[in-house]
Amino acid sequence: MKLSYRCSSCKKDNYIKTKATNRHELLMELGTNEINERCKHCGNFTKKHINRLYADDDYTMVLFGFAAAVVVTYFLWDYGYISTLSGAIPLWFWSEMKKKSSAFNRTMVK
Ligand SMILES: [Zn+2]
Repeated sequence: MKLSYRCSSCKKDNYIKTKATNRHELLMELGTNEINERCKHCGNFTKKHINRLYADDDYTMVLFGFAAAVVVTYFLWDYGYISTLSGAIPLWFWSEMKKKSSAFNRTMVK
């Protein structure tokens, strides 16, 4: 999951990578409900409650879907249902990505 937060000093977005799929897991992973990260743009340390971190759309998932579609298209070329599957696979990855980020953004911790 790619998480983003806005630096309070320069108002630019920073990104954090995590294995957590929701804020409860993130809390477990960090062991605290606040992050103290250095901004990549201005170097300012920003304290953020993890409820203020938002899951960002991770388009690597979609790219992966496109790659999978190319492979599937290659193997199923002779069967004739290329067009449907080739379009459906990246779409499926895209909707999974959306589901994951919205599920993350819906859960809040105390
Ligand atoms: Zn900054």
